[in-house]
Amino acid sequence: MHRAVSSAWWRSIWPHHGSGHSNAAGTAMKILVPVKRVVDYNVQVRVRADGTGVETAGVKMSMNPFDEIAVEEAVRLKEKGVATEIVVVSVGPAQAQDTLRTGMAMGADRGILVQVEETVEPLGVAKILRALVQQEQPGLVVMGKQAIDDDMNATGQMLAALLGWPQGTFASAVAVENGGITVTREIDGGAQTVQLSLPAVVTADLRLNEPRYASLPNIMKAKKKPIQTMTPADLGVDASPRLTVLRVAEPPPRQGGVKVGSVDELVSKLKTEAKVI
Ligand code: AMP
Repeated sequence: MHRAVSSAWWRSIWPHHGSGHSNAAGTAMKILVPVKRVVDYNVQVRVRADGTGVETAGVKMSMNPFDEIAVEEAVRLKEKGVATEIVVVSVGPAQAQDTLRTGMAMGADRGILVQVEETVEPLGVAKILRALVQQEQPGLVVMGKQAIDDDMNATGQMLAALLGWPQGTFASAVAVENGGITVTREIDGGAQTVQLSLPAVVTADLRLNEPRYASLPNIMKAKKKPIQTMTPADLGVDASPRLTVLRVAEPPPRQGGVKVGSVDELVSKLKTEAKVI
């Protein structure tokens, strides 16, 4: 076990941190869950004809699958009496409201849409989330380990760094106990368990849980839950991009394979045709 960076620095500049409603255990625990609207994972992604990005017009969009896992984990913590409120937040176009409604149908209490027209890079999202953390003062941020559209795997780490909070990334199990959080992390060839002080950032890996389907009554209830809309400027954040995408291209089509009749034929082809041995 290893003890991560303490959040004393954060608390020292923010003495009121954590002064929210208390649950039965006496700990105030609001959970913030950032959820991204991405091209649905079942859709065959196509590159736009002009090579500037991927086609999203008329394409089915859904909540990033790792974010569904994050919402599920937050809901389970609330069901256990560890969390008192779950706030889902999305940085995206007006349609990202649907993503927030999905999160609320799963059990989140309210939503925040930070409306942008252009894509915001992980650093921009992390800065927006930092501003929201300062407003909302959650005890925990649970988010996806990566968004399946750009595969950045960066926002959670950047947010933790900006806040000076401990981070437990690639979580396959979490337990909130004794005022801290124990996170089992998926690492190459095994698992690592870290104990973090709260507040902290946790990013969800695939094995953390299996997200629930929202029931019809909960989908109906979610329509009445509040969504607050704001812009990065309202939060004092400049979310303009720092990277320029030069070109997006499809991977080269796979060449057809050949069947060989014997090991000798294989070795000979590798020598004379593929010239790799
Ligand atoms: P990434 O670093 O882009 O791979 O994303 C990692 C995680 O950050 C995602 O799983 C989300 O939880 C969160 N995130 C990234 N972009 C957004 C966004 N535009 N709105 C809300 N959450 C986001």
